[in-house]
Amino acid sequence: MAYDYDDDNIFARILRGEIPNATVAETEHTLAFADITPQAPVHVLVIPKGRYVTYDDFHANASDAEIVDFHRTAAAICAEQGIAADTGAGFRAITNAGRDGVQEVPHFHLHLIGGRPLGRMLA
Ligand code: C5P
Repeated sequence: MAYDYDDDNIFARILRGEIPNATVAETEHTLAFADITPQAPVHVLVIPKGRYVTYDDFHANASDAEIVDFHRTAAAICAEQGIAADTGAGFRAITNAGRDGVQEVPHFHLHLIGGRPLGRMLA
């Protein structure tokens, strides 16, 4: 499956430094920043620096180095933010993809949400 990447999407503009962001973590392949409309006390978006549209695009087409870096960074953020599951707190990691997933920004991103009881959610 080929994905059309929109270089004008807002996260592409954040990566180019055209729009400010509240950076939480940055590595060679990954950027994480606070969501501008937080849904909980901790709401961080983790994005790859590469041009990937969705979860599926990223995991099908990114290099192993990019994928490992992405997930290690996300896990480190959970620890740093005090929401890791082994603290007893825990979190939710969500990615919306495509039309039915109601993805608003067409650059793959993982929402890390925590800091309060989140309730049960499957859809
Ligand atoms: O998963 P979805 O694409 O719907 O989520 C996009 C997220 O990007 C929203 O939670 C929104 O608040 C966030 N956002 C942001 N900074 C922007 C634009 C959107 O944190 N400048």
